[in-house]
Amino acid sequence: MSEVEERVEGALYATRQKIYPREIQGRFQRLRVYTVWALLGLFYALPWITWQGRQAVLFDLPARKFHIFALTLWPQDFYFLTWLLVIAALALFFVTALAGRLFCGYACPQTVWTEVFIWMERWVEGSRNQQIKLAKGPWTREKVLRKGAKQFLWIAFSLWTGFTFVGYFTPVTELAVKIAQFATGPWETFWVLFYGGATYVNAGFMREQVCKYMCPYARFQSAMFDNDTLIVTYDQSRGEPRGARKKGSDHKARGLGDCVDCTMCVQVCPTGIDIRKGLQYECIACAACVDACDEVMDKVGYPQGLIRYDTHNGLEGRPRHALRPRTIVYGSLLVLLVAGFGVSLMHRNVVGVDVLRDRNALFRERADGLIENVYNVKILNKDGEAHEFTIAAGGLPGLHVDYGARTVAVGPGAVRSVPVKVRVPRGELRGGADIQLTIRTADTRALQATGKARFLAPTN
Ligand code: SF4
Ligand code: SF4
Repeated sequence: MSEVEERVEGALYATRQKIYPREIQGRFQRLRVYTVWALLGLFYALPWITWQGRQAVLFDLPARKFHIFALTLWPQDFYFLTWLLVIAALALFFVTALAGRLFCGYACPQTVWTEVFIWMERWVEGSRNQQIKLAKGPWTREKVLRKGAKQFLWIAFSLWTGFTFVGYFTPVTELAVKIAQFATGPWETFWVLFYGGATYVNAGFMREQVCKYMCPYARFQSAMFDNDTLIVTYDQSRGEPRGARKKGSDHKARGLGDCVDCTMCVQVCPTGIDIRKGLQYECIACAACVDACDEVMDKVGYPQGLIRYDTHNGLEGRPRHALRPRTIVYGSLLVLLVAGFGVSLMHRNVVGVDVLRDRNALFRERADGLIENVYNVKILNKDGEAHEFTIAAGGLPGLHVDYGARTVAVGPGAVRSVPVKVRVPRGELRGGADIQLTIRTADTRALQATGKARFLAPTN
């Protein structure tokens, strides 16, 4: 086996070394903290917000209705969700082409939850050095207590996460009561434990392994990179040759670059890489190394930016281009899709009708000479307010509609079935013909929908 093969095999089968990222202060770390608070705050708070007497965001699978504040999506509207997914995917392509892995470093759920788990770990076990010392030390009473407290916090936080996740699909207040009474159903229990367990394993143990080996986005994003994509990069021409030096000494006279080889950029890296070796697929562009190196540069009195967000072109001293064919194409498509989505959403019909023939009789010949067909008309009111509907029939001369009332009231977000009798004078029709049944609001807001039906009559 060649040396290279041995190295590759060694890397594949090597036991994972746990990474203890050093705590870091700096502008990018502050940005990440704000993002974590904003995103997780939103995730945990949203299910508790109410809107017009119901949970504001509720994906009610049994009723097949998705409530998002004033908007209620019905099964007929699910193409909007597909549309949203396409917009999200395209937005990711656009951001990646423009700004590299910014999503990974600041907004990816894996990064966000791992950050919180690391905070809890630091809070209980102390700094990086204290954590390493504790891990290497014997199982003393203090070690058991600290490790136990950390596990307790992680498990409690994971279960709360699982509970919140299920709270998007089942009314959260009801779920809280059921959990307090140990009365959750099998599916609710399964999903709370499953999602909680996934959070615990991924953010507590797997961490950077998820980004390295499991994330599909990490695999295909390099296809979206070019020389103008923003990456976290080490300025080799400025930093090398690296080496220690005395503060205030003329390092240039000694032939040294600006890197003092303090390894702070490596110690703060959540994926454990050395960015000075060049761009690596493990790098999630979190910029912890940028903050660490800027702090070192301040201390030794050199300009910041030895490690920085830059593009390949920028690094090589060539002009940077934010506008280029791929960003223009992604950006234009994104604008079109978002605009189309907004317009379709605003103009979507919030009433619908379903017409089903009564299966018991094809038609009835009445004593007054009329032929009668009976239909079951389902009126769908997807609007946020109640409406009164009239029902009219068209498609044949002399059609008469009878549904036992002047109007039919349907509540907000409700469906109502109405038996409707449609009559036509005998002799107007032989065999059968297609007709339309139209529902119309009889109040201030003009809405209507039409359903098709077949009217049957004797053939002679
Ligand atoms: S933090 Fe900066 S100075 Fe220190 S090793 Fe990394 S690149 Fe060099
Ligand atoms: S190399 Fe720097 S930007 Fe990349 S993951 Fe490590 S700390 Fe984050």
